[in-house]
This record gives sequence, C-alpha cells and structure tokens, in this order.
Amino acid sequence: MNGGVYVHVPFCRSRCHYCSFYSVTDRDVPDSSEYVRAILNHLSTFELITEAIDFNTVYFGGGTPSIMPVSFFSEVIEGISASVSLGDELEITIEMNPEDITSDYLKDLKHAGINRISIGVQSSTDPVLQKLNRTHTSGEAVSAILTAVKFFSNVSCDLIIGIDGESRIASNILNKLPIAALSHLSLYMLDGAKNDRLAAESDHTADLYTKLCGVLENNGLKQYEISNFAREGMESVHNLHYWKGNPYIGLGPSAHSLLYPYRIWDHSGLDRFLKGEFKSGRMEYSKSLFVTEMVMLALRLKKGARQADFEKNYGIDLFKEFGWLCDRFPGFVVQDRDGISLTLKGMLLSNEIFQELLEP
Ligand code: SF4
Repeated sequence: MNGGVYVHVPFCRSRCHYCSFYSVTDRDVPDSSEYVRAILNHLSTFELITEAIDFNTVYFGGGTPSIMPVSFFSEVIEGISASVSLGDELEITIEMNPEDITSDYLKDLKHAGINRISIGVQSSTDPVLQKLNRTHTSGEAVSAILTAVKFFSNVSCDLIIGIDGESRIASNILNKLPIAALSHLSLYMLDGAKNDRLAAESDHTADLYTKLCGVLENNGLKQYEISNFAREGMESVHNLHYWKGNPYIGLGPSAHSLLYPYRIWDHSGLDRFLKGEFKSGRMEYSKSLFVTEMVMLALRLKKGARQADFEKNYGIDLFKEFGWLCDRFPGFVVQDRDGISLTLKGMLLSNEIFQELLEP
C-alpha cells in the first residue's frame, strides 16, 4: 500500500492574521541540523509500524519551509529513505513563500530531490495581502511563479477568497496571475467564523467560489477536490493520500499521522520536540467511525465516494449505509450508479454535511 510522509516546519517570520497552523516566530535562523535530528528521532518512533507501507510522497509544509537552508531538505530526505521504504516515483513537495523564491535556491532544491513547489500566493491584491499580514506583494508573487516554472514542471499556488475588500469579479482575481504557467491551484475559503474581522459576507464568497470554479475549468485547471484544481495527471499525490484514507506519517510538532487503526499526533511544542521529548496523543478507531471518516474524506473529492471502493476496502454497501445523505440534503448530495458525491452547491455546504455525517 502507498502512503506519504509529512514534515512540519514550524518557523515563520511573522504571523498571518488568518493562520491556525502551529508555528513560532521568535527565532531568526532556526538551527536546521538540530531540527533535522529531532525530525529523524521522531520518525524512529514509527519504525515498527511502517514496514508494510511504500511511501511515494514527502511533503514539507508549515510554517514556512522555505525559511530553511537546502541542506535541511536533503538531510531529512536522506534520513527518511534510510528508515522507510521510499518508492522510485517520488513526489516531494515544498511549500514556499514568494519572497523566498530565487533561481539559486530553486536550483539547489531541485538538486536535493524536490520536484513539486507550492507557493503561498493567497491573493492577487496588495491591500488584501496587507490585511492578511502577508510579507510579500502581488508583484512578488507573480515573479515567484514565473521563476519557479523555469525550474519545475509541477508548480501549484494557494489562494484564499472570502476576504473583505477583495474583487467580486473572478476574472479580476485570476487575470493578475500567470495561471497558464501553473499545473495546480488550491483555492481556500476563509473561515468566516474564525476570522470575522477579515471575512467578506458569506453570499459574496459562495458566489465568487462558484464563478472561480468555472473560470479555472475554462483555463484547463479541473476541479478534483473541494479546494483543489489541476491539469490532467497533475493532482497532488500527497494530498490524495489524505482523501483516500491511505496511511501517512506526520513528523514535527502538531503533525498528525494515520496508521489504521490509529490516529497519532504530537503536541509537545517546539522546545520539547527539539529535546526529543515527544508527547503523542493516540486514538484507536472503531471500524464504524473510520468508515464514516473515510466517506467524509471521499466526499471532498469531485468523484465522491465510490460504491466499489467501499465494498472492496471496508466490506460495506455505501448506498445502503450512507444513501440517506441524498434524502437529507437533496440537491447538495447526489447518487449515481457508481456512488455518492457532492454537487457544487454541496461543496459550499460541506461543513454542515460533514457535521451531520459525524453526528447524525
Ligand atoms: S506563513 Fe503560513 S504558516 Fe506562517 S503564519 Fe503565515 S500562513 Fe501561517
């Protein structure tokens, strides 16, 4: 079975106002060799249970991975490959902030084995970027994309919509970015409940999301998940592991792992983590909770949950056990011959649908 390794890099230069990821901003240049040691130490705690998995993705997320020197990535990749079985066709992604992207850095990252870049563009409008407390301009984001595609054929960018002050016209948002150069784009809606001071009205966000889905599709970026769009064959293999319920190991403070029947997470905080004092939480799934969670994750995908997959993987009749969702949310959840999926309207209501699924 294939799986992925996620490496959390919890260092940022400053906090973006919308961010809920774990990171610290109180150290200038992290001592990368100390962090490499801690990450590989953490990995060694998983050794016994990862023997049966062929890992085909490594994902450096954050935080701000692009704050780190190239040696950090090569040492971590080398350490991972010495401990677990890494396949030949590996997808290795690094999340980057636009201001860190230079030709020399990219060249060295490529040499270290990185083959996919995900750039945190977030908005194409400067006042919106300032409101979010991002440390780059839209012009810098555009040149970062154009530089990245000179070295990498697999470049993604992240955008956030639903921010007060952004354009209401989908093409205004995308026209400022070199969309044709991208192989992948992630489009997130700001969580208005957690960011009421930043958020636009929800009707505006829903309307913009619907329009952007259409414009992206017309530009060859096909939606394959609620927030993700890709050219043919360029879907994120790593993120698909999450939505397909494949095993993954998360390394670093706050990272989660899924090794059925366990979900495992670390909540030690950076300083304890660096000392090798990992503080793991662990939950054992019941089969029914795991299947429900897998249905929820599969519904995030455009193709939805497939009857044949659920029969083969979990021995359940998807229609019989989860067909009620279509009656409960008509027009939002639909059933076809092969399975159950969300409509575009359903994707906009996904949080409510998933809530109902987990607590019917
Ligand atoms: S750079 Fe990324 S991880 Fe750091 S605060 Fe901003 S959004 Fe959060």
